[in-house]
Amino acid sequence: MITLAFSDEVSTSRREVFERAATRWDGLINTGFDPIRFEGSVLTGVRIDVSITEIDGADGVLGQAGPTVLRPGPELPLIGIMEFDSADVVSLESRGSFADVILHEMAHVLGFGTLWTRKNLITGTGTMDPRFIGSAASREFAALDPDGGRAVPLANTGGAGTREGHWRELIFGNELLTGFLSGADRPLSRLSVASFEDIGYEVDYSGADAFSLPSFRELALTGITEAVRNCDLCRMGRTEPIVLQE
Ligand SMILES: [Zn+2]
Repeated sequence: MITLAFSDEVSTSRREVFERAATRWDGLINTGFDPIRFEGSVLTGVRIDVSITEIDGADGVLGQAGPTVLRPGPELPLIGIMEFDSADVVSLESRGSFADVILHEMAHVLGFGTLWTRKNLITGTGTMDPRFIGSAASREFAALDPDGGRAVPLANTGGAGTREGHWRELIFGNELLTGFLSGADRPLSRLSVASFEDIGYEVDYSGADAFSLPSFRELALTGITEAVRNCDLCRMGRTEPIVLQE
């Protein structure tokens, strides 16, 4: 189970947004691991430390999210952080995308894109066609596109936190875990759930959203093929987790 530890300045209404995201992920992946002692307290599941503070005003840095301490053995997250710039949160809220950003960033804390290199799940790194080779996600991709090849296309543009840490936007469009938030509705697909099975979680596919690959026309209508785009998610920093010793 995901436990959220908020810093004092996070308001009740914002806490609810994080709580809803945690509930959603708890319904999809099982973090019910054995209790473990860390820094004097006993932790079960995953603890995410959440803060919203002034960083550098609107735009610039949006924040930082990722795992910080991994469990010994499976090397899955024990502790992670989600830090956001308060000025940017105001603007995300005004655009109605705050909840989806939180749901998306929580995926990175749980290992999406942040544990893939460590678990040798990427092929073609540095090329124009990086792919995710996990068997569960590859199976789900084949169900979406029987002719798409054996592994899942990953983002091949963007900075270090974007490239090879998301599904490829030009193929997966408005799916929640591409590198951009696009469209009005951002489904969390079986493909994304499967990627968590590939990094070592038990997963429950029944909570995934319906999703099919968009046509090129649909991508164009959403603006995804435009060269100049606003990329809020590219403004997030990543953590470098340590593995707890047994
Ligand atoms: Zn992301």
